[in-house]
Amino acid sequence: MVKATIPDTRMLVGGERIAHEPGRTIAVLSPLTGEVLAEVADAATEQVSNALASAESAFEAWRTTSGAERARLMHRLADILEREADDLARLESADNGKLLRETSTQARFTVRNYRFFAGAADKIYGHTIPLDAWETFDYTRKEPVGVAVLITAWNSPMQLLANKLAPALAAGCTVVIKPSEIAPLTTLRLADLVEEAGFPPGVINIVTGGKEAGVALTTDPRVGRISFTGSVETGKAIARAAADVLVPVTLELGGKGANIVFEDADLDRAVPGVIAGIFAAGGQTCIAGSRLLVHETVAETVISRISEIARQIRIGDPTDPDTQMGPVASIVQRDRILSMIADAKTDGAQLAAGGGAPKDGTLAGGAFVEPTIFTNVAPDSRLAQEEVFGPVLAVTTFSSDEEAVTIANGTDFGLASGLWTQNVQRAHRVARDLIAGTVWINTYRYSAAQAPFGGVKQSGYGRERGLEALDEYLRTKNVLMDLSDDIRDPFAIKA
Ligand code: NAD
Repeated sequence: MVKATIPDTRMLVGGERIAHEPGRTIAVLSPLTGEVLAEVADAATEQVSNALASAESAFEAWRTTSGAERARLMHRLADILEREADDLARLESADNGKLLRETSTQARFTVRNYRFFAGAADKIYGHTIPLDAWETFDYTRKEPVGVAVLITAWNSPMQLLANKLAPALAAGCTVVIKPSEIAPLTTLRLADLVEEAGFPPGVINIVTGGKEAGVALTTDPRVGRISFTGSVETGKAIARAAADVLVPVTLELGGKGANIVFEDADLDRAVPGVIAGIFAAGGQTCIAGSRLLVHETVAETVISRISEIARQIRIGDPTDPDTQMGPVASIVQRDRILSMIADAKTDGAQLAAGGGAPKDGTLAGGAFVEPTIFTNVAPDSRLAQEEVFGPVLAVTTFSSDEEAVTIANGTDFGLASGLWTQNVQRAHRVARDLIAGTVWINTYRYSAAQAPFGGVKQSGYGRERGLEALDEYLRTKNVLMDLSDDIRDPFAIKA
C-alpha cells in the first residue's frame, strides 16, 4: 500500500492557518482499513462567519486586479498542481478510496481546468448596445458576484473543486470553500499551494466541517453565489436556505445515467463503455451509467460479456496498480448499497453478477462491494429510479428507439447519458431527444475543460466547465448614458 503524506489540516482564513477548537474535530477515516487518517476542524458558525468576512474584505482589492494578473496567479497554481499531481493523487486515493489511476487522471485534469479558465480571465467583457434613440450610449459590464461559497462532495474533491474554483477566480470572485468532511484532505493541501502561488490572503479561504458549517455558509447574505455539488436532498435544503437571503445557487446533484446500446452498436467498444460507465470509480460518480438499456436482439450477448468481465474485476487496494475497483467511500455507504441490492433481489430483478460484499477475507475491514449486475429490471423499480452511488448496474431491454428514449427519460434525473450506434441519424436524433445535460455518443465518462457540464430536473441547475461556467460567477450591469442635451419631462419614464 502506498502511503500518502497527510497535510496540515488546519483551516485557511485570511491567509492564516486556524488551529482546531478543542472538542470540535472530525475524524477522517480510511475507506480501505477504517483507520483514522487525520482530524479536521468542525467549524463553528462564528468561524465560518470570519471566513466570509475575510473573503468579503479581500474582494475589495481583488475585484480591481486585472484579468491578466488573475490569469498569472492561476497559471502559477496550475504549474504547482502539476508538480504535486502524484502526491495529490495518492492523498485523494487514501482519503476517498478511489483508484490511483483514476485520481492521477483527475489531478491532471484539474490542472487543465485551471489553465483553461486562466486563459479566459482576461477575456471577460460586456457589449455596447445600440438603442432605439441615436443620442444614447449603452453598454454592459460583466462584474464578479463577490464572495462565492463552494461546497463539494467526497467522491472527487479535487475535480469538483476545480470545476468551481477555476471559473470563480477567473471571474474575479473571492471564495470560501468547504470540502466534504468525509474526504477533505486534498482541499486542505491546496491551502499550502495557493499560498505558494501568491494569491493574496483572503482570496481563497478553506473551512472544514459538517452541517453547521454548511448551514452557516448558505444562509449568509454577504454571499454572491453558492455552488454546490452533492446529494439531491442537501441541494434542495441549500436552495431553500439560500432563498431566504436571496443568494443564487448552482446545483450539481445526482444522476441515474442511461447507457443505451442499439442493435447496430460496435459491441467491442460498447461493452467496455458500459463497464466504464458503472464500474469505474466503483460507480461512485454522479455521471455513472447505472442503467444499461440494451436492444433485445443483442441483449443476451451484451449481458453475457459484461457479466463475464464484472466477475473478473480485481477488487482491492486502490493504490495497487493491478486493482480495477477499490472500496466505496465508507462502511455506511457500503451498507446502504448492500441494502439496495437486497431490495432489488426481492423486486423481481435477476442477478447476473456479484450481489454482495466480496468473500475474500483480506478485504473484510474495507468498504468493498462486488461489481453487481441485475437484469430484467423494471423501469419503474427502485433500482432503476434511485441513485445507488455504487457498482450496481440495472439492465433493461427495449425494442425500438422510441421505447429506449422513453425509458431513458423516465427518471427524475437528467445529468448524463450515453448511446452506442453506428447510425449517424439515429445518434443525433436520440441525442436530441434525451433529457440530460450531457449525451455521449460511442463513448462514456469523457470530460473536457471546454465542454459545459450540468444537469436538468432533479440533477440540478447551472453549468460548470466550458465558458458557460464563468456566467455563474458574473453578473451583468447595464450602463446607459443620454448623449443629448434634451431637458426631459420629469413625470414620464424615458424609453
Ligand atoms: P452530501 O449532499 O451529503 O454532501 C455534500 C456537501 O454538502 C458536503 O460538503 C457536506 O458537508 C455538505 N452539507 C451537508 N449538509 C449541508 C447543509 N445542510 N448545508 C450546506 N452544506 C451541507 O453529498 P455527498 O454524499 O458528499 O456526495 C454524493 C452525492 O453527490 C451523490 O448524490 C452524487 O451524485 C452527487 N454528486 C454530483 C456531482 C455532479 O457534478 N452533478 C458530482 C459528484 C457527486
